[in-house]
Amino acid sequence: MNIKERLSNIQVRINRASKIAGCDPSKIRIVAVMKTVEVEQIQQALACGIQNIGENRVQEAWRKYQQLEHAAAKWHMVGHLQRNKVKQALKFFDLIHSLDSIELAREINQRLDTIPREIELLVEVNTSGEATKYGLRPEDTADFVAKVSNLPHLRIAGLMTIGRLSPDAEDSRECFRTLRNLFEKLSKYKHPNVSMKYLSMGMTNDFELAIQEGANIIRIGRAIFGERQEHN
Ligand SMILES: *Cc1c(COP(=O)(O)O)cnc(C)c1O
Repeated sequence: MNIKERLSNIQVRINRASKIAGCDPSKIRIVAVMKTVEVEQIQQALACGIQNIGENRVQEAWRKYQQLEHAAAKWHMVGHLQRNKVKQALKFFDLIHSLDSIELAREINQRLDTIPREIELLVEVNTSGEATKYGLRPEDTADFVAKVSNLPHLRIAGLMTIGRLSPDAEDSRECFRTLRNLFEKLSKYKHPNVSMKYLSMGMTNDFELAIQEGANIIRIGRAIFGERQEHN
């Protein structure tokens, strides 16, 4: 299967899951996650209508950005962001999915002071409780959002999570429900600089479940580009 065929397959599955969820499939954004994928394939995905592309490493993303600079796409940082990479990340990412500490929030806030571009942030929540995952504990998230809302240059635009690592995708459903409930709770708060627009959850293995549970951003790598060679 080529990228075009894979993408139309994914669209059929999105439509089906949206029907179950009772939501409008055109509201669901696909972020094509291009880790380990080279620019030729990314260009193919863009030619097929992909508008959002994501990476989990700043350095890798920057390398590809320089080759793809003129392509009309929104750039998403989906991996853990180290504080010493913030400066570079803010040069080209549009949406950072991985705000996970107050220190990182302060660093970003300070640097955004001199950047006129609109950059949005999602708060990453560790809904599975797995020790290997980054993100706030669900029970700490509301306080965290209240705290970072005082940082004037930040634009918090929603929440992100990664489902449970398990052969059974259904195991992710509980994670997605936890995030959805938090999203609804936080939507009622009136914090400055915070709007709950995006619910980023679901990957190749579990994006249909994520849509059923309310995702409006799904992050897809392998289902678009094929299996990755190395672990990344
Ligand atoms: C790699 C990655 C994805 C995409 O995973 P696939 O299983 O290839 O769809 C999504 N989100 C994050 C944070 C990732 O690191």
